[in-house]
Amino acid sequence: MMQFVGRLSLDLVSAELRTVDHLKAWLADSTLEVEGVSCSPRELAAARRVAKAVEAGALAAARSRRPPDDAVKLLNRAAAMPPLTPRLDPMTRDFSWQRPTVSAAMSEVARDALAMLGDPEQRRRVRTCANPDCERLFYDDSRPGRRRWCSPERCGDQARARAYRARHR
Ligand SMILES: [Zn+2]
Repeated sequence: MMQFVGRLSLDLVSAELRTVDHLKAWLADSTLEVEGVSCSPRELAAARRVAKAVEAGALAAARSRRPPDDAVKLLNRAAAMPPLTPRLDPMTRDFSWQRPTVSAAMSEVARDALAMLGDPEQRRRVRTCANPDCERLFYDDSRPGRRRWCSPERCGDQARARAYRARHR
C-alpha cells in the first residue's frame, strides 16, 4: 500500500521504489499525478538518489542539524533540471503534463525539498513519527504545528491504544 505523508518530497522518501513500475505507480498516485511516463532503470536509480537526498536533508532538519553537503548538491542539481510543463486542453479543459519525464518530476520533488529545507518555519515542521515502530518522516501542516505522528489515524490511534493498555495492566 502506498503511504503519503502530506508533502511531495517526503512522500517520495516513504515510497517503495524497487522497480520501474513502482516509480510509475508512485508518479501517478502522488500529488503530481504524472500519468504515462516512460521510465528506464537509469531514471529509477536517479529517482532513488533524489529520495535518499531528501531523506538525508529532512532527517537533518528534524534533528535541527545542517543537511549533508552531498545531499544538498544532488537536490540543487535535480532542481536545476526543467520542471513539468502544464497543459490545458482548450476544448475539454482537461489539465495534463506536456510530455512528462522522470527528470522533470524529480525536478519538482527537489524544488519542493529545497523550499522546505530552506525555510526555518517549514524546517521546524519536518519530523519523524513518534511511533517507535514507524519513525517515518512527515511534514506537520497542522496550524499549531505540534503533530507527533505521521498519521493521526495510523500511528496516533496505535499510540493511544498502547497507552490505554499500559494504564489498565
Ligand atoms: Zn507513523
